Amino acid sequence: MRGSTTGWSYPLRRRLLVWIVLFFHSGTPRLVMTCLICRFVAPPGVQGHTALRCPLRRQLQCRYHVSNEHPFYLPGPCLSETCSHAKQCAVCGLLGHTSHSLALRPTRWRLSHGRVVPIASLEVPIITGIDFMCPLVGDRQARRMVAAVHDLALSER
Ligand SMILES: [Zn+2]
Ligand SMILES: [Zn+2]
Ligand SMILES: [Zn+2]
Repeated sequence: MRGSTTGWSYPLRRRLLVWIVLFFHSGTPRLVMTCLICRFVAPPGVQGHTALRCPLRRQLQCRYHVSNEHPFYLPGPCLSETCSHAKQCAVCGLLGHTSHSLALRPTRWRLSHGRVVPIASLEVPIITGIDFMCPLVGDRQARRMVAAVHDLALSER
C-alpha cells in the first residue's frame, strides 16, 4: 500500500503553483499565475490555472500500460474506467489513448508522493508533437491543442 493520501495535496498544490513577476510600463511588478504544462499565463481579470488543473493533464498515459522498464510503471491491472487506456483515439482510431493524451516522458514528468506531476521548471520545453501519445499528432496539432486550452482558460473569467 502507498499509505494515506490525505495531508499532501495542499503542499503539492502549492509547489506546483508558479508565480512569475511581470514588470509593466508603470514599473509596478505584478504576480501572475502560469501553468507548467500549457504555459498559460493569466492576464489581469482571468483566474488562470495550475498544472494540476490543466485540461492537458486529464488524459495522461496509463501507468499500468507503459513498459515495465518505464520509471513510472505500475504492475497489475488498471481499475479506472475513465483512464486513457480504455479510450479510443478519435484521430488515429487506436485504443489506449485519446487525441490529447500526453505520454509519460521522464524528461517532462516526475513522481511526487506516488503521483505523476510535471517537472517544475520553465526550462522544460513547451509541449510539441512528441509529447502526445497519438502517433498522428504532430507539432502543428500540438500547438493547436495548447492554443485551444489557452482559449478555454481565457473564457473562464
Ligand atoms: Zn495549463
Ligand atoms: Zn489505465
Ligand atoms: Zn491516436
